[in-house]
Amino acid sequence: MTDAPAAHQEGALGESPREDERSEILGLTRAKLVETLGETIDRPFRADQIYEAIYRQGKTDFEEMTTLGKDLRESLGRKFRIGVPAEADRHPSADGTVKYLFRLADGATIEAVDIPDRGRRTLCISSQAGCALACAFCVTGYWGAGRNLTPAEIVGQVLAIRRRQEGGSGPEPLNLVFMGMGEPLQNLEALHASLRVLTELVSWRRITVSTVGIVPGIRKLASWEKRPNLAVSLHAPDDARRDLIMPVNRTYPLADLLAALEEYPLERRRRITIEYLLIRDFNDAPSDAEALARLLGDLPVKINLIPVNPDPVLGERMVPPPDDRVDAFAERLRRRSYVATVRRRRGDDVSAACGQLRAPGREPRGFRQGALSW
Ligand code: SAH
Repeated sequence: MTDAPAAHQEGALGESPREDERSEILGLTRAKLVETLGETIDRPFRADQIYEAIYRQGKTDFEEMTTLGKDLRESLGRKFRIGVPAEADRHPSADGTVKYLFRLADGATIEAVDIPDRGRRTLCISSQAGCALACAFCVTGYWGAGRNLTPAEIVGQVLAIRRRQEGGSGPEPLNLVFMGMGEPLQNLEALHASLRVLTELVSWRRITVSTVGIVPGIRKLASWEKRPNLAVSLHAPDDARRDLIMPVNRTYPLADLLAALEEYPLERRRRITIEYLLIRDFNDAPSDAEALARLLGDLPVKINLIPVNPDPVLGERMVPPPDDRVDAFAERLRRRSYVATVRRRRGDDVSAACGQLRAPGREPRGFRQGALSW
C-alpha cells in the first residue's frame, strides 16, 4: 500500500481538511454503515464490500475499491470520508519497534506504537489525546489532559499502521493493547464502538484494555456481552503509596478496585493482568512483593512487572531498581504461586516505551509539588 497521508483524498477534491464536510465512515459498525450510506449504495451488500475493503484489505480510499463500479466510487468519495489520521512523524527504533505520531483533524497529536515480537505483532493504541489522571510516573500525564478520541480516530490508528506494513496485513497474529496515551475507561463509548469494528480484524481475546482502575468503568465493561482482556495498573501494594503516585486512588481506593475485579466475569482460563511498576526504593522491597501477594489473594491474575522507564520530566526518583532486585521481586511472587513476568523495554531509544508517550508542542502541566516526594 501507499504511504501517502490520508490528506491526499481531501487534496483530490480541492478542499482543505477543515472544510471537509463529508461524513466519516471509519469506525461505524456494519449496521450503522448501511444506514449512513443510505441511498448512495444501491444494495446493502455494498456496505459489506466496503467493510471488507477497509478492514480486511486495508484500503482507505474509495478509488482503490475496484469491486465497486466507477460511478459508485466517485459518489462515495464526494459524500463520505475514510479519515485515517495523518502520519506526522515516524520513529523506527533499533529493536524493530516503530513509534508513530498522528495529527488529527483539529491539530491534536497522538502516538501509537507498533511492536513486532517473535512472530506476532502488538499495536499499542491511544484512547485520548493527553490524559487527565496525572500519575507521577507517566509522561503523558505530565503533559496534561487532552480530549477523548472518536471511534474513527481509534480505529484509524490501527489502519494507518497496517497500511504502512508491507502488503497491508502482515501474516503474523495481531494483538491490540490500549496502553497508549489516555485512560480508555474515561472514553468508554468510543472504546466500545471502536472495538466492535476492530474485532473484524482481531479477536476479542487478542485485545487488552489497560486502566488505572476507574471502578464504575470496570463495572460497565463487565456488563458488556463481549469483553476484551483487562489489565489494571496497580503499581503499589497499599493505599498510602498508591495515593502518592496515582491521584485516582483517592477516588477509587484499593478495596473498591479489588472488589470490582473480584466480580469481573472471566472466560475459562482467562486472567486479569495486574501491571506493577517497579520504582527503586519505593515499592520494590521483598516485603512489598509479599504485601502485593496478600492484597491479590486468590484473584485470577497474572502479574506483569514493569521496571519504570525514567524520563527527565519525571524527576530523579523515578528510576528502575537494579535487575537483581527486579528478579527477586518476581521470584517472591512466583513462590506465592503467581504467574509473574517482567516486561522488557521496547523502543526506548525513540521514547516509545511505556509512559513515555507525549504529544509534542504543548505546554506541560507539571505535577503538583509533593506528589513526587517520598
Ligand atoms: N491509562 C491506562 C492506559 C495507559 S497504559 C493505564 O494507566 O493503565 C500505560 C501503561 O504504562 C500503564 O500500565 C502505565 O502505568 C505504564 N506506565 C506509565 N508510565 C510508565 C513509565 N514511566 N514506565 C513504565 N511504565 C509506565
